[in-house]
Amino acid sequence: RAKRHGRNQFCFFHQEMQTQFSRRYQLEVRLREAMHRNELVMHYQPVFESGQRDLVGFEALIRWSLDGRLCSPAEFIPVAEESALIHGIGRWVIEQAIGQLAIWHRSSGKALSMAINISAVQLNDPGLAAFLNSCLIFHGVAPAQVEIELTETALLDDAEEKLANIAAIHALGCLIALDDFGTGFSSISHLRSFPISIVKIDRSLMPPNEDDSRALALIRGVVLMVDALGLQLVGEGAETEAHTQLCQRLGIHRIQGYYLARPAACDDIEQRFFAPAAPVN
Ligand code: C2E
Ligand code: MG
Ligand code: MG
Ligand code: MG
Repeated sequence: RAKRHGRNQFCFFHQEMQTQFSRRYQLEVRLREAMHRNELVMHYQPVFESGQRDLVGFEALIRWSLDGRLCSPAEFIPVAEESALIHGIGRWVIEQAIGQLAIWHRSSGKALSMAINISAVQLNDPGLAAFLNSCLIFHGVAPAQVEIELTETALLDDAEEKLANIAAIHALGCLIALDDFGTGFSSISHLRSFPISIVKIDRSLMPPNEDDSRALALIRGVVLMVDALGLQLVGEGAETEAHTQLCQRLGIHRIQGYYLARPAACDDIEQRFFAPAAPVN
């Protein structure tokens, strides 16, 4: 009886794996074509200075328009990472984001920043830093305007290729940001051993409500520590006026979140931020 039960269970898992596998595989096949079909697009989320709430930059976030809807990067980036497609996609993202920054710099006259997410796997590409450099030169963007966002998982293994890439990106003059800070388990030691200039506090550290004293103590503690190291702080996922004021009060330098602005396509960003002022008569 136990045996039969076991066999059935095996069959169940087997089928489940089969469907998952074919779904993944299909996604991979379609993703491979997506670039050539112009189905990948960049959205940009505005980042603000916390005091005056002035626009100071953007984070580039990839989107895939698949069957009439936008597929989340949380769904397809892992597929790309497992298939080496991430290298092509990652370079495309870098090229798009830096090109867009150059356009907005020219049209606004402001040296805004552009944050670009890099997967751990991309750090295995020995040509990554050189590619980044060629984009900066081609578009005439100053390296210090570009922030390369790494997550803790990218720093977990100290493969030589990865360390060399991080060092090379830093040497170009680009800033390195540690993304999703507070979600991992060993981020603190990374702050000491990698050339990190910016820490992005994960949105899970935003207090759910104003009188949650433990949540407040936690985010305050994180800010104190990061501040003591002289690093720049960005608060992610500010969804309310209360979150936004809290970031300002705690001395978090920059804020990003749905409350101030959602990620949006270029046209929407231009309409909201770079539209020529209406003539005064
Ligand atoms: P991330 O780098 O931590 O990006 C921030 C995510 O939080 C984005 O999700 C953004 O839309 C979302 N977000 C911003 N403000 C709020 C808020 O107030 N509330 C909530 N609930 N969410 C907010 P998105 O665009 O779905 O991206 C998910 C993740 O996918 C990113 O997390 C990043 O790890 C990865 N990703 C996105 N674009 C790229 C890319 O071009 N390359 C690579 N390698 N990864 C990317
Ligand atoms: Mg990010
Ligand atoms: Mg993040
Ligand atoms: Mg994330």
